Amino acid sequence: MLGLFRFARSATRFRQISHLPPVTPFSRRTFEKRTQIAECGFHTTRPRAAIPPIILIVLRPVLRVVAFLAGRNFRKWWRSLPKDKRQYYWSRIKENKWSIAGGGAISTAMAYWFYVSHLEVEPITGRERFSIVSPKQIQELSQLEFQAICVEFANRIIPTHHPYYTRVKRVANRLLLANKHLPQVYTKTWTITVLDDPGNMNAFVLPNGNIFVFTGMLNICTTDDELGMVLGHEISHCLLGHAGENVSREHLLESIKLVLIALAWAILPSDLLSLFGYSVGAGALNATLRYPYSRLLENEADQVGIHLAAKACFDVRAAIAFWAKMDLIHEYDQPSSLEWLSTHPSHKTRQAKIEEQLPDAISFRKYCKCPDLPARDPRQEIESFRKSMLEGMHKTMPVGVVLVVPDMAAYATGKES
Ligand SMILES: [Zn+2]
Repeated sequence: MLGLFRFARSATRFRQISHLPPVTPFSRRTFEKRTQIAECGFHTTRPRAAIPPIILIVLRPVLRVVAFLAGRNFRKWWRSLPKDKRQYYWSRIKENKWSIAGGGAISTAMAYWFYVSHLEVEPITGRERFSIVSPKQIQELSQLEFQAICVEFANRIIPTHHPYYTRVKRVANRLLLANKHLPQVYTKTWTITVLDDPGNMNAFVLPNGNIFVFTGMLNICTTDDELGMVLGHEISHCLLGHAGENVSREHLLESIKLVLIALAWAILPSDLLSLFGYSVGAGALNATLRYPYSRLLENEADQVGIHLAAKACFDVRAAIAFWAKMDLIHEYDQPSSLEWLSTHPSHKTRQAKIEEQLPDAISFRKYCKCPDLPARDPRQEIESFRKSMLEGMHKTMPVGVVLVVPDMAAYATGKES
């Protein structure tokens, strides 16, 4: 997923799955909870958000400036004090150390209570998560992103009669229809948009169910099975509500960063040192909290995605082939990136984790009465792809065609199907 606030435009409404009864129940251990969800519906705690997230997002830079000025002014004020006055304040702090410690403990307890009281259980995985935004607020943000994408990529929408579009529609439809018993699927109006950008190997799904695929991704996914694995992953982000989770978590991390800014400029002796201190603190925060959490969500989307794809009878072994190809491309482009400084697991890590989950996914696929896996294992294609890359043949892969954008009014009103 590109991120909640990276948005393009979407096009046609391809299918609205209305309320349908659960179909084949899941039996595998990782999906036991899902059976209950299909039968019982959502049982999450209601998120409580005092301030709409969009306001917090807009306020973010303002609050950073306020924290910076507060810290810096405190430092100036402290330095301007005569020595005896400073000693007087220090002695007052020592006298009241227990009161100060008590105040700190109460504040910490309140912050902890705030955190715990905003935990909810994610229905598909059963994982507890922090949430301060309501589904309605996320829907509104999603709509804003959708509109932003409409503007940003206005001239790059592939029309619905193009083979690229029909391919994505075919694969997405297969995934969603196979998993239509999930409330997270049938309560959304799903749309598909293919964006013409051969250099962009990406796809994402907005929280409202707007699927976006770049032509660069379609060129890499040489089979429907591979595309099924990619869309399974992206749709999983949507079904698991990762966008809302990210927004909540970003607010939490932003609060910590505001404290860091204020402390850095209050304590450290110069602006340069404060900037350095803050950069180190923010980097440590990212490396220890932000990035690992983001990678956790990616792994979760991989795990759920492979089961969505198995339910739709895709050849789940294609996930390994896809990530192996991505790894080869990545090595070619950016050979030295570090996983612990990344929001996504490395392609090798993903490949290894999916390899572990593969037997379970294949069993699940069999349980869903899918036809036998094809005799030719998609993983056999990895070596030929490597050779093609080495020979420079990847440069001649088919690329997207720049097409005239069809009538956008029809898209906006959802007339096409
Ligand atoms: Zn992802």
